[in-house]
Amino acid sequence: MTKKKIVHYLIIWAVSIIGAFLLFWIWYVYSWIKYIPPHYHANFALYVNGLKVDLSADKYMEDVAGCSLTWKVYPASRVHMHNNDDDSIHIHAAWVSWEHFFNNIAYNIGPDFIYSKESGLIENNTNNSLQFVLNGKKVDFPLYNLINSEDTLLVYYWNKNDENLLEAFGTINQDASEYNSKYDPGSCGGTNENGIVVLVHNLFESFTWTDHQH
Ligand SMILES: [Zn+2]
Ligand SMILES: [Zn+2]
Repeated sequence: MTKKKIVHYLIIWAVSIIGAFLLFWIWYVYSWIKYIPPHYHANFALYVNGLKVDLSADKYMEDVAGCSLTWKVYPASRVHMHNNDDDSIHIHAAWVSWEHFFNNIAYNIGPDFIYSKESGLIENNTNNSLQFVLNGKKVDFPLYNLINSEDTLLVYYWNKNDENLLEAFGTINQDASEYNSKYDPGSCGGTNENGIVVLVHNLFESFTWTDHQH
């Protein structure tokens, strides 16, 4: 073999090995990207007897510091509120329903009742009933519906007066599209808006054994 031929073969080998590594990394990175959860927003309000139920207390909120950079998914990390803003819902997972959200803030809502520790049992009676408005339209029990991005839901218990009902709907601060289009710094930033952070974190984590205590 001539010297020229040897160099030629070496180059082919080097390119093949580098190519194989590149393909492996592309596959590796892609397999992580696939699992980066979504992050979108919706709006809602709960009205009882003409008054908006104040759900802005800390206990209803997901602590931003609690949004951890792991793949462990808890019910509360899938859908929640942030920063005492009780008009806006942050959805951080696929297949999240309105019921998931209300259960996370310890509210149980059925077609004809509301129950929570704070409110007690509120049931339909001859004068008052539970009504729902989704995106401006009166609907039957929508709690099992998945929450779509930029949905607005009113859960309303009072007498049947469409004017009051739609007025209450109108008071909901519909800022989901705004949240969707901005960085949302007061949210679970690391896990969501910035998928690259998760990616890098998990690449490092995959080389350690710290998270393997089952
Ligand atoms: Zn958010
Ligand atoms: Zn969040």
